[in-house]
Amino acid sequence: MIVAMNAGAAPEEIQAVIDKISEFGLRAVDLPGGERTAIGIASAIPPELRQTLTELLESMPGVDRVSQVSRAYKLASREFHPVSTVVTVKGVAIGGEEVVVAAGPCAIESREQLFEAAAAVRLHGGKILRGGAFKPRTSPYSFQGLGVDGLKLLKEAGEAFSLATVTEVMDSHDVDLVSAYADILQVGARNMQNYPLLTAIGDSCRPVVLKRGPSATIDEWLLAAEYVLSRGNPNVILCERGVHPLDREHTRYTLDLSAVPVVKHLSHLPVIVDPSHACGNWRYVAAMSKAAIAAGADGLLVEIHPDPGRALCDGAQSLKLDSFESLMQELRLIASAVGRPMPRE
Ligand code: PEP
Ligand code: MN
Repeated sequence: MIVAMNAGAAPEEIQAVIDKISEFGLRAVDLPGGERTAIGIASAIPPELRQTLTELLESMPGVDRVSQVSRAYKLASREFHPVSTVVTVKGVAIGGEEVVVAAGPCAIESREQLFEAAAAVRLHGGKILRGGAFKPRTSPYSFQGLGVDGLKLLKEAGEAFSLATVTEVMDSHDVDLVSAYADILQVGARNMQNYPLLTAIGDSCRPVVLKRGPSATIDEWLLAAEYVLSRGNPNVILCERGVHPLDREHTRYTLDLSAVPVVKHLSHLPVIVDPSHACGNWRYVAAMSKAAIAAGADGLLVEIHPDPGRALCDGAQSLKLDSFESLMQELRLIASAVGRPMPRE
């Protein structure tokens, strides 16, 4: 439910509405944006109370009208929050004017590998270094990541190259640990509906990249974001990374690029795209990266590796460092064609 106040509503009138909502044990939130103040109710309203509450609020001084939110998610919706959210991490604004590129290896394997990749990210205009330390592998026999040693390397590389860092956290009990080393947490596609994890990240207030589950609908994805937002953490960055494909022979998943404009319409949250996990093959990563920016994505999450043939994880989809350099040059052209700057430094 959204209570829109009159343009000239007095602060006491606004406060009275907030107090009234609270009297019913419901949570009132100030909705930014627009010229007029609006107050949202970010709690489930018991059906039997809906009519009474609507009439009561509509009769209060300064209230213009009361409307219902049509979606199950509230805090994630643009209805509730018309102004686009910009998540700022170490001076990097995600969801603002500029297109932001996060890149790095799938998994942190060694100091040399990570530092070589980080140097390329920095040199070619990337702003965020990615690298997995806790890897969600399909097989228990595959490389599982370096764990805390990997996190230490990530922090070191981020500092050495002045890059913000992002890494996956798989377990709610590890949120504090991972937060001690990385600037941005990542919820992997397999964990999009791990509600205790989302709740713990919500409580941590850490910026988070929330990947879309391969079988998740857009509404399920936005409801997952709602778990984080409803705990008071506004720093959610959505990441499309491909959905279950019709044809697995040529790509790993199907990149749902239509999700970008759809989610931009439904939600105020920044949206980035991971073409690497969607394609599963480095050959297609550049095309889909460019398409993502053209479609309105706020940034990219791309896997790169100094020597993909020797990668311990996802080598087939990782760009070599020189291909990454070419991609960054091409992306600048696409970004400027859609009116989004992409700084060189
Ligand atoms: C990753 O980014 O390292 C990863 C495992 O991706 P996803 O969760 O999208 O499969
Ligand atoms: Mn990977």
